[in-house]
Amino acid sequence: MSQLPIIAIDGPAGAGKSTVTKLVADRLGLLFLDSGAMYRAITWLVLEAQLALDDEPNIALLVDRAKIVLTKDKVVVNDVDVTEAIRTLAVTSKVSTIAALGVVRVALVKQQQEIGRQGGIVAEGRDMCTNVFPQAQVKIFLTASVAERAKRRQQDLRDRGQGDVSLLELEQSIAERDKIDSTREISPLQKAVDAVEIITVRLTIDEVVDAIVAMYRQVANK
Ligand code: C5P
Repeated sequence: MSQLPIIAIDGPAGAGKSTVTKLVADRLGLLFLDSGAMYRAITWLVLEAQLALDDEPNIALLVDRAKIVLTKDKVVVNDVDVTEAIRTLAVTSKVSTIAALGVVRVALVKQQQEIGRQGGIVAEGRDMCTNVFPQAQVKIFLTASVAERAKRRQQDLRDRGQGDVSLLELEQSIAERDKIDSTREISPLQKAVDAVEIITVRLTIDEVVDAIVAMYRQVANK
């Protein structure tokens, strides 16, 4: 095999993709690609520049000039550490609108494919299986109900010291993001026909990680 295997993980907000992806990457010694962080970094830049969310010409310029660096635990854009800033509600509530823009997707997908060029990567997002790495040997669609995902997000925000957001508010914002992400014209969120669906409700994180690691080992040993 000329390229090391790729694990592609898609799913809606709050399904546990980041946690699972990081653990799988650690266990297998693979590179970890959080594609959502890239869309969040661009959204942060758009908000900082006070551009209108539909100002495609200026957003295109901004994306072209943006230098996004993802390391194991940091997201840096144009030399600014935005690791925390991209997780705020201000960014979260706008990211799906920005991620639906063609100019943004074309540029970021190119960068993501470049990062995964040699394989040996676990990539998570919304269109990893369907669009960015259709050749991935392991494809997973990780999901859970809106209510369950809102509960997890609430705990996440608490853990990050970002306050107490009501479950209702979180359910609404997750449902809104799901809707924009799965109905947009370009690469909408959907389960790839050849992806394995994992519903994360009754499984522990370790069980999900074990299952994905086992799938990877099967294809890597071929
Ligand atoms: O995964 P995360 O919640 O950080 O993603 C933030 C947003 O970025 C998603 O709601 C979606 O709008 C967008 N996204 C995307 N395609 C990806 C990853 C994320 O459109 N591959």
